[in-house]
Amino acid sequence: MAKVFAVFGDIHSNLEALEAVLDDCRKEGVTDFLCTGDVVGYNACPRECLKIVRDLGCPVVMGNHDHYVSSCRNLADFNPHAAAVIEWTRGQLIDCEISYLSSLPFTATSAGISLVHATMDGPQEFGYVFDHLQAEAHFSHQITPLCFHGHTHCPMIYEKQIGAVYRIDAQDFKLPMGRKYFINVGSVGQPRDGDPRAAYVIYDQANRLVKFRRIEYDIQAAQERIRLANLPERLAERLAVGQ
Ligand code: ZN
Repeated sequence: MAKVFAVFGDIHSNLEALEAVLDDCRKEGVTDFLCTGDVVGYNACPRECLKIVRDLGCPVVMGNHDHYVSSCRNLADFNPHAAAVIEWTRGQLIDCEISYLSSLPFTATSAGISLVHATMDGPQEFGYVFDHLQAEAHFSHQITPLCFHGHTHCPMIYEKQIGAVYRIDAQDFKLPMGRKYFINVGSVGQPRDGDPRAAYVIYDQANRLVKFRRIEYDIQAAQERIRLANLPERLAERLAVGQ
């Protein structure tokens, strides 16, 4: 059977956004899931989101928040809001959840598609890819024709042709043969491209079609959970504006 993938990540413990995305996947006839990491961090439902993602039984790669929550790494180079939620999340999770996060691979390949949270140019360094030069460094490590990632929370397409790399705004796209693509699927739980709706991608492998989905969800409910958990107010506010 032809596979229709939902590629999603940067869920960041936002249960309302994740449930809305999975509802949309059912309507869209998704058959398989691929997760680009950062299941936890920033929002207030880490355990619920972890359970849902684990129950999907799909490939999941390690995000920087997953890594920091499940390791003893010093948080000094994290922004203070993110670090506060990392500490809070460590306190919420039970041992088997922490060990699940710590066991996630930094890269994965499934059905000929690669996954990485940030960039193949040092998957454990979590560098940001915002322009074609940074994408160029990544492409020298991308073996498969197609790779999905997240991390910046901004959906984007990078295309490599012979001798050049192009940045293309996120749009529904039929992938031509003979080129490589590095596609940022945006963020389910904390979009930062000015659109507060949850973001993910559907990839219809047989037809080589990429669709960028944006899904409304109950933002106020997610904000309320942040406030009830006494997490930084800024994290609630940014959900409403997608920044
Ligand atoms: Zn993230």
